[in-house]
Amino acid sequence: MKIAVASGKGGTGKTTLSCAMAFAVQEEVTLLDCDVEEPNSHFFIRPEIESREQVCRPVPAVDSAVCTGCGECARVCRFNAVVSVGKKTLVFNELCHSCGACIRICPTGALKEIEEPIGQIETGRRDHVRFVSGRLDVGQAMSPPLIRKTLEHASPDGLTIVDCPPGTSCPYVTAVKACDAAILVTEPTPFGLHDLKLAVETIRDLGVPFGVAVNRVTDEAHPIRTYCEAEGIPLLVEVPEDRRAAEAYSRGESINSVMPGLNETLRAVPEKLKAML
Ligand code: SF4
Ligand code: SF4
Repeated sequence: MKIAVASGKGGTGKTTLSCAMAFAVQEEVTLLDCDVEEPNSHFFIRPEIESREQVCRPVPAVDSAVCTGCGECARVCRFNAVVSVGKKTLVFNELCHSCGACIRICPTGALKEIEEPIGQIETGRRDHVRFVSGRLDVGQAMSPPLIRKTLEHASPDGLTIVDCPPGTSCPYVTAVKACDAAILVTEPTPFGLHDLKLAVETIRDLGVPFGVAVNRVTDEAHPIRTYCEAEGIPLLVEVPEDRRAAEAYSRGESINSVMPGLNETLRAVPEKLKAML
């Protein structure tokens, strides 16, 4: 089972919860850090890194000696990633979605597929946690191909926890739609509620079953509870505001170490989600 841990915005405690859940479950678990633009679960898992692999994606390259400037490639590209002016044809890799349409349509064979490095994947382990993390190269704009590659490391039959990119755009959709169920992490604030609503809207379109986790709860009667009750969304986890958690975080330790009572709640989450499938 693949569980996405996602949120409508950054800073809600998504990585904290992903790592805490990985430590809490008493079985072999794979943690995939798919927040490839800013992966930081390694700070808390502290894995022994066993291997690194470079990840590339296909992009078109122009052979100007063969290009006639017909402009077919520019017309077929939905992302304006290739332009043809006179006899000069240019590809803007940062806009390219690697669909290959321009290569297929080019009548002269002037476009060839080349491999562009976009990032790397690290794999390692700590105790029962198998750790896999994608890291996008500096300056790269296209994270979905690297997210998809990282997702290929999911356990085929065991439990996989996916630390997803924040927000509700393409990276979030790429990671969440590959999972069986999701936890949307938020905070009990007006901003938290606003961004949770966006994440809920998106995940309902994707058809992925989900529940909510609320971080830094100070008052039981918080607006997230009211919203979830009104929308019929299961409230899976509530993490109380606790100075010890902030201190553990600043030391790069998982919050389980200072909030052992949380382990039982987190252990129950995969079963609760499984019951929703
Ligand atoms: S389709 Fe091929 S030949 Fe035509 S402009 Fe593009 S690269 Fe050049
Ligand atoms: S591969 Fe697709 S997205 Fe990239 S330049 Fe060609 S048509 Fe555009």
